[in-house]
Amino acid sequence: MDDCVTIKKKHLQRPIFRLRCLVKQLEKGDINVVDLKKNIEYAASVLEAVYIDETRKLLDTEDELSDIQSDSVPLEVRDWLASTFTREMGIVKRRPEEKPKFRSIVHAVQAGIFVERMYRRTSSMVGLAYPAEVIVTFKIPVPNLISFAEALEVGYSKYKNPYHNLIHAADVTQTVHYIMIHTGIMHWLTELEILAMIFAAAVHDYEHTGTTNNFHIQTRSDVAILYNDRSVLENHHVSAAYRLMQEEEMNILANLTKDDWRELRSLVIEMVLSTDMSGHFQQIKTMRHTLQQTEGVDKAKAMSLILHAADISHPAKSWELHYRWTMALMEEFFRQGDKEAALGLQFSPLCDRKSTLVAQSQIGFIDFIVEPTFSLLTDSMEKIVMPLIEEASKSESPAFGTPSQNSLGAVSNAEAQRRPSFKSTSDGGTHTENSLATVDLTSFKDNLMKIIQANKERWKELAVEEELVKNVGEQEKDQSRNSTDAQLQEETTRIQNESSQGSDGTTCPPRSIVLQVVSFDTPLSDESNSEKCTNSDPNQKDLTDAQQETQNTDPLNGEPKHCKKSEDSVKATEKEALIQN
Ligand code: 5GP
Ligand code: MN
Repeated sequence: MDDCVTIKKKHLQRPIFRLRCLVKQLEKGDINVVDLKKNIEYAASVLEAVYIDETRKLLDTEDELSDIQSDSVPLEVRDWLASTFTREMGIVKRRPEEKPKFRSIVHAVQAGIFVERMYRRTSSMVGLAYPAEVIVTFKIPVPNLISFAEALEVGYSKYKNPYHNLIHAADVTQTVHYIMIHTGIMHWLTELEILAMIFAAAVHDYEHTGTTNNFHIQTRSDVAILYNDRSVLENHHVSAAYRLMQEEEMNILANLTKDDWRELRSLVIEMVLSTDMSGHFQQIKTMRHTLQQTEGVDKAKAMSLILHAADISHPAKSWELHYRWTMALMEEFFRQGDKEAALGLQFSPLCDRKSTLVAQSQIGFIDFIVEPTFSLLTDSMEKIVMPLIEEASKSESPAFGTPSQNSLGAVSNAEAQRRPSFKSTSDGGTHTENSLATVDLTSFKDNLMKIIQANKERWKELAVEEELVKNVGEQEKDQSRNSTDAQLQEETTRIQNESSQGSDGTTCPPRSIVLQVVSFDTPLSDESNSEKCTNSDPNQKDLTDAQQETQNTDPLNGEPKHCKKSEDSVKATEKEALIQN
């Protein structure tokens, strides 16, 4: 204690001095174990307090995160939430040392052609038979659309990403299309705005590198330098997609007037940039605030929310789909982790394949990101669409689908005339399939929330097993650390080796519930799975149905495919992996 007496008593209150003092004592071999334990415990409690305080600071500015309790969310998940969904808490800061209404047919076809091209490798248009009326109204030159869609496919396949690939693009595009129809929001948007939505969804992750913005910034990649560390990937997605259209044969917007072209571009840029997850909490806050005002909702903000929600919509789809998307994303994160390890960088949160707790992180993702986003989405849709429905029913419009004005900014006739190139079609009120009268926002919301909850429950079950696996692993590690007996160590190693070998001698996957569910070389396309796709209740109007429509086609050859494993087989695979681990 000699050295320590020289340190003023008040300094000893500071953990840093206490620890230095202990180090000195340790060097001299002059240490009381009880004292040592007490001081280490004290230091740990100070560090914990600092961490909580730091988190609270973040929560002060971002109240949507304020429900994160220090004991309910694992540290790594909190780190991930903060570093992914806010700007304030990036890695650098935390580690300073280091219209007229869009008529149903045209609507469906414009969206449908995009989607269909995503799913067809052959460029032949044989089999695409649309009514002559539709072809005439269609303003996008079909050959240009084909070339453009094929170039998109190439760009989405460039980095062979397990998650951010052409299927994710098609999935998000399909989901945006689904949301527009089933919430009735399509009746609030002009044709040009609907085109902007579909187009933005289709290009929103174009040439994604399979790594995060933070990774680009840390590694000082070319794109990070080009875009000054701001929404690096998102800037690239829009810019590169527009660059494609500079080629005449890929210019799908050739027939737009100058004004329409500029308006569409401005919407697309705003929407795609808003898919940068670091703006998530700000976006939610702004939109919540807007909903409390009496004025109408800003079109671009509402459209950005739809795209953002579609981008994170797989937890609102059937478990089989959600589980596969999760595993694909985790594998993509882990590949980034592998790169980080190779570069001597610290693992980004959720990127260490050996220690990431997938189930627990999914609960955090659903609780703090997905649920609030979808709740806001349905509230926003309600605020916008309910007055439209009321108005349409009052005016006794045959299909509730004819153009109408409303206080929230539905397109006026004057506005429609301003855009001669985007006139509505003549089928108007006679086509009732997707009319306002069929919109049922309550069941849209209830179904979504039910599915999200059910998925969360599944993750909770898996989290229990995940925790057990983790604890067993930690015990094993402790044992080998504590033992100075060489023989015992040898035995431990032997047991560990045995438990990481399958019965046939093959090496098992790492200690994590990330499994071999998906063949990652072919994104979400499991060639070996020959099970037939069976759709669930065809009357069920939820995102799962929408997803299944697209997933039932093999993205590579347009053939119907084994879109998903049966529930039992997915369950079996989950269990299998836990056992293996
Ligand atoms: P995107 O990168 O596709 O434009 O935006 C989606 C982002 O949301 C992903 O990069 C990821 O950060 C997050 N995300 C989407 N789905 C999941 C999920 O299932 N789990 C987690 N942890 N994050 C997800
Ligand atoms: Mn995306």
